[in-house]
Amino acid sequence: MEDYIARYRDFLDRSKTERLFVRNAVERAREHGFVPAGEKERLASGDKVYFVNRHKNIVLAVIGARPLDAGFRLVAAHVDSPRLDLKPLPLYEEGGITLLKSQYYGGIKKYQWASIPLSLIGTVILKSGEAVGVEIGEAPGDPVFTIPDLLPHLAKKLQNERTTTEVIKGEELHVIVGLSLKSAILEKLKTVYGMEEEDFLSAELELVPAFSSRDVGLDRSLVGGYGQDDRVCAFAALESLWALEDRVPESTAVVYLVDKEEAGNVGSTGMDSGYLELVIEELLAKTGGAPGGERLRRTLWNGRALSADVTVAYDPVFKAVHDEQNAAKLGKGIVLSKFIGPGGKLNCQDADAEYVAEIRRLLTAAGVAYQGAAFGKIDEGGGGTVARYLSSKGLQVLNAGPAMLGMHSPFEIASKFDAFETFRAFKAFFG
Ligand code: MN
Ligand code: MN
Repeated sequence: MEDYIARYRDFLDRSKTERLFVRNAVERAREHGFVPAGEKERLASGDKVYFVNRHKNIVLAVIGARPLDAGFRLVAAHVDSPRLDLKPLPLYEEGGITLLKSQYYGGIKKYQWASIPLSLIGTVILKSGEAVGVEIGEAPGDPVFTIPDLLPHLAKKLQNERTTTEVIKGEELHVIVGLSLKSAILEKLKTVYGMEEEDFLSAELELVPAFSSRDVGLDRSLVGGYGQDDRVCAFAALESLWALEDRVPESTAVVYLVDKEEAGNVGSTGMDSGYLELVIEELLAKTGGAPGGERLRRTLWNGRALSADVTVAYDPVFKAVHDEQNAAKLGKGIVLSKFIGPGGKLNCQDADAEYVAEIRRLLTAAGVAYQGAAFGKIDEGGGGTVARYLSSKGLQVLNAGPAMLGMHSPFEIASKFDAFETFRAFKAFFG
């Protein structure tokens, strides 16, 4: 378990954006014998391929012994995490300080992003089409960026009466770039990256916590770090494929890692796109037989999936939001959530009882620790996962993933045991 966690923490710390996660996943996939699907004319049992969709969505498959349309197994997780993006025209100078205006991405408590060191990571596409990589704040000795909070001495009227969501407002999430004039900062960007101010328009630059993950607790039973939602599952899914080694799974094993989950799954690299269909059609065509609309739909309908995402752990301090009896506990294994939906199960994907029983059997046979849970008290709030998008394509889907504290904060807390059991659950699922 400690070896697994060491690999996980290393991967997590090097994959703070969806683009980095996908790039690092490709590197690892190649080491484990995976090749780009486009390089193969035909696919046979045991072949290992991957598809990269626009740098931010990766799908990996190990072709199984059974025909694809007889059923495949899929683990879906997301590789984007809440963060601060930049505005299209971010740079300005005032009062002798030059700053960047950000726009937050995903569901954050904005005040948590003030007074911490931030790295700037991403890609700028120059007008010429050339891609320039930016990574400032990650290497030892790099400078970092930060959003200074208001000092308590002067917060009495301006800030102390505000509600939590407005302690720091969206329009106040401005990061310090330095004391140099804006023109001097632009000159530096031109020299180092060859970029003009207008190139911010075609950039995807993300501000993320600059610190690395850490062991948490005297007993070191926990991992604290940024972006564990949902990279703890995405990493486990990758490792479960590597664990197949040279074995041919009975059903084709697919790992589907998406972007845009935290912003509502919209976009061609998110779950609410037709990319899964495109991938399955290519796999059908290359494993034999003519792909057709009916065969594609039947293949999807015969698919079995785990929607791998983190859930909330019981919090003894804020216990009022939980029904303790139905709350996931840290350190008790992977959480199976038959449904995650507020109120009257609105818009939620409620897994078939038959399918939940099948997964319970499978995990029990493999000796994987699991628990069932609800997502907080009824009507307390709620969340969602990619399960609904998979089920609308016809797959049977069950939500499964580790519970966490401090979700969506810059320093999320997960149990090492749960992270490891998540990997073991996916491994058992692929068989
Ligand atoms: Mn999330
Ligand atoms: Mn998530």
